[in-house]
Amino acid sequence: MSDTEQKIIIAVDGFSSCGKSTFAKAIARRLGYIFIDTGAMYRAVTLYALEHGAIRSGIVDEEAVVRLLDQIAITFRFNPDRGASDIYVNGDLAEGKIRTIEVSNCVSRVSAIPEVRSKLVAMQQEMGRRKGVVMDGRDIGTVVFPHAEMKLFMTADPHVRALRRYDELRAKGDDVSLEQIEENVRSRDKADMSRAVSPLRQADDAIVLDNSHMTVDEQMEWFMEQLRRLRAAKQ
Ligand code: C5P
Repeated sequence: MSDTEQKIIIAVDGFSSCGKSTFAKAIARRLGYIFIDTGAMYRAVTLYALEHGAIRSGIVDEEAVVRLLDQIAITFRFNPDRGASDIYVNGDLAEGKIRTIEVSNCVSRVSAIPEVRSKLVAMQQEMGRRKGVVMDGRDIGTVVFPHAEMKLFMTADPHVRALRRYDELRAKGDDVSLEQIEENVRSRDKADMSRAVSPLRQADDAIVLDNSHMTVDEQMEWFMEQLRRLRAAKQ
């Protein structure tokens, strides 16, 4: 893609465990754009809430989470080894700590709190102000950037998604069953779609990508074709 092309915002939304981050990261690398993982931001707030007593024994005290919000400063710093940005909470590296099962189990309840969403959405809008970003999440094309030039909505067969996560977790040595994971994938989708504030839904002008039977290379080929069409339509 030519450097002189006008930079745009690419919103990548979709269901859990569809490979959104992998795909969004690959697009950003290809275009020289900044990749922003908004799920990491909701996870970072959840981690802070866990560490500061606003979540105890899996019970989320929503008012306590809201009271903590002013104390949480989230920043990203590019990590050349990963080829992506690491997330920091109040200057401390949080990247490794936000992907634990404890955080995963509480994040959808924390992300349903309206005050949490308005703080993070404002930050995300600021990060995309200069364009040239690929942002992945659940509400990017509907709420964060309703005027994004390109909106992608990713989906895949729940069984295929569960199998992918199962392989990932087993490779890390986690002792989980496929049934447990399939149940988790389905219940997270349900929670994200049914919450009152900014539920997961496909924007009317989003292009759907069902990657159930596609490799990462095939997905990239598909994406470049969509981008060519978008550029051609603008001329
Ligand atoms: O993308 P990831 O699975 O890491 O996101 C973790 C959780 O954060 C999701 O299950 C969802 O509840 C929440 N989330 C959200 N809005 C976003 C991104 C993530 O509510 N834009």
